[in-house]
Amino acid sequence: CGIIGYVGTQAATEVLLSGLEKLEYRGYDSAGIATIWEGELNCIRAKGKLHKLRSKIEKSENPSPIGIGHTRWATHGKPDEHNAHPHMDMTKRIAVVQNGIIENYRELREQLKAQGNEFISETDTEVVPHLIAQFFKEENILAGDDKGSDNVLLEAVLRATNKLQGAFALAVICADYPYELIAIRQQAPLVIGFGQGEFFCASDTPAIISHTRAVLPLENGEIARLTPLGVEVYNFAGARQRKQLKILKFSP
Ligand code: GLU
Repeated sequence: CGIIGYVGTQAATEVLLSGLEKLEYRGYDSAGIATIWEGELNCIRAKGKLHKLRSKIEKSENPSPIGIGHTRWATHGKPDEHNAHPHMDMTKRIAVVQNGIIENYRELREQLKAQGNEFISETDTEVVPHLIAQFFKEENILAGDDKGSDNVLLEAVLRATNKLQGAFALAVICADYPYELIAIRQQAPLVIGFGQGEFFCASDTPAIISHTRAVLPLENGEIARLTPLGVEVYNFAGARQRKQLKILKFSP
């Protein structure tokens, strides 16, 4: 129902939680965040209100400068902690949040199960991290020399995205690419925010307006790579797009 992502210099956890609080107006039944710390994903989720998530996080807070967050309005799978986002692949290296619906998830889920993937939720979203992991595996990327090199994460996410049907916005991080956040828009809102050495993505501007007023609303069929060095936008065919920032006015 609401997505936020951050990569930069601050501790991501507080940026994510306060951003999610600004998205509360959209309504939600559960929430979660994932950050990358000491080479591992730290994924924490809770059913109910954000203060429940906050109190869980306080016990395992870390200064990770990258992360994604989500407030969920359940469409597939009951509102419960195991269905809350972020969702991960089996190796727990890839974390994904989704706003919207993956229409062809049943078919993808069956294919992925036949390939040996085990699912722990009933959501439509969990196919996405498994699909991305599958593309990594097919390319032998995670095990190979390419680990950590440019474009590998973007390429795997792009291939997975091209398998998805529906109306969705996604944010993805991977423990093997700790300075990279991938954001996707397909018929669900997603805006990129530009700070100094820090970049954001969110379902709506209130989540990021206290950090920056320089924004770029993604268009349908666009995928963005956010790193501490900047933002690149591509279409789903992988072609780089030329974009123009918008400066939001102080009073609406
Ligand atoms: N369809 C997804 C789910 O039920 C995402 C719902 C949302 O946008 O919050 O998990």
